[in-house]
Amino acid sequence: MKYSNFMEVTFKAISVNEGFARVCVASFCVQLNPSVDEITDIKTAVSEAVTNCVVHAYPTFVKGDVTLRCELENDVVTILVSDKGVGIKDVEKAREPFYTSKPSAERSGMGFTVMESFMDSVQVESNSFGTSVKMSKRISASACNVAG
Ligand code: ATP
Ligand code: MG
Repeated sequence: MKYSNFMEVTFKAISVNEGFARVCVASFCVQLNPSVDEITDIKTAVSEAVTNCVVHAYPTFVKGDVTLRCELENDVVTILVSDKGVGIKDVEKAREPFYTSKPSAERSGMGFTVMESFMDSVQVESNSFGTSVKMSKRISASACNVAG
């Protein structure tokens, strides 16, 4: 039987909402019966993606939106974190370990690397209208146990 579900929330790109996004996605994923390690991995990856929207997407005073979407298809979680900010000029370079455009702000340039190591796949799409990060992870204990 195919199990499917989704949720979507939009919030302001300010740092207090990073914690909100972590809790939100963890609460939603509980229905797949993830292990503590799996849920920690997902929360960490979501933190990095949302923090990037907060820190990089809206460099001017006016902070825009971040949309967090979480889709479940059987035992696979797919998370989309998107903003309508300035975008990334060179996505390939941005994904390199230790690359940061903000060394003076003490960023380490490891956000994308962390997302890649904690999730099964990470795709980044970006242009001058915004950035979208799509990440997926298979949950070992599976949606088959979930009542539809
Ligand atoms: P760290 O995540 O370790 O604090 P960082 O944010 O600089 O440092 P990454 O998360 O790997 O490192 O991101 C690399 C670079 O990609 C950033 O320095 C920034 O230039 C760019 N970037 C990432 N996400 C966005 C975004 N949503 N909008 C605009 N630029 C972004
Ligand atoms: Mg980052």
